[in-house]
Amino acid sequence: MIEILEGIYAFVVGAAMGSFLNVCIGRWPEGLSVVKPRSRCPKCGHGIKASENIPIVSWLMLRAKCSSCRERISIQYPIVELLVGLIWLDAYGHFGMSFTAFRAAVFATVLLGIAITDAKHFLIPDGFTVFGVFFVLLTSFVALYLGQSEPFAGPWDAILGMCVGAGAISIVGWLGEVWLKRPAMGFGDVTLMAVVGAAVGPVRSLLTIFIAAVLAPIVLLAIVYPLSARGLADDKGQTELALEAGGGWRKRELPFGVFLAPAALVALLHGDAIIAWYLRVSGL
Ligand SMILES: [Zn+2]
Repeated sequence: MIEILEGIYAFVVGAAMGSFLNVCIGRWPEGLSVVKPRSRCPKCGHGIKASENIPIVSWLMLRAKCSSCRERISIQYPIVELLVGLIWLDAYGHFGMSFTAFRAAVFATVLLGIAITDAKHFLIPDGFTVFGVFFVLLTSFVALYLGQSEPFAGPWDAILGMCVGAGAISIVGWLGEVWLKRPAMGFGDVTLMAVVGAAVGPVRSLLTIFIAAVLAPIVLLAIVYPLSARGLADDKGQTELALEAGGGWRKRELPFGVFLAPAALVALLHGDAIIAWYLRVSGL
């Protein structure tokens, strides 16, 4: 019984975090503050009342329309709220009511925000990565004190991982640039890998880059490009993404953060097992 209540609590807190994440996703790429002004309808300027700001519920109650001018409210809002609610519920499921669950939930929420802004705008706002790197580093000391660092890296590995993650992705980007004779990777990916490296440590940060490098061409060529070819990807972000795949990624930098973000979660939760498996089958 208590588990159900705690699970509901985790989901509700997560959904509220998802609501704030929507604000970050909407404002940071524009260079706007996420603190003020209060949320308004982008069309008519109607201030969003507290009763219209309940995650998921309000969007359903309002039937996806502004209460003042009937302008459509994007389905991105309830989806992100639902996803972050599920992330926090899942973190509770994995780690119980613990400090580790809180760290994992915040880390995954930041990664989701990064993946969405990178997919939509081809950029990774400093708001996510600066917060992320300080959050992960500072909480690594608290976690050490509480004796619950796993599966995150301890403080020393976090500092090493931050440098290795950022350094390794820089080398990949540099060599990619030489090979392709054009910018291959944005600086945002470097800042993202600093956060990821601080969370997972040096070894699993390399694994993260490897997983993302395997994942990216598969997803782009097998899913995004065929979808756009059939004219199903009407969303601008997706179409641009598909153009990348279709045009041999000629026009823009690859939004690599979209792939690094989920890869980082796999590395955090399953990285040790994957590395142990690899060492066993390769006989190293
Ligand atoms: Zn309106």
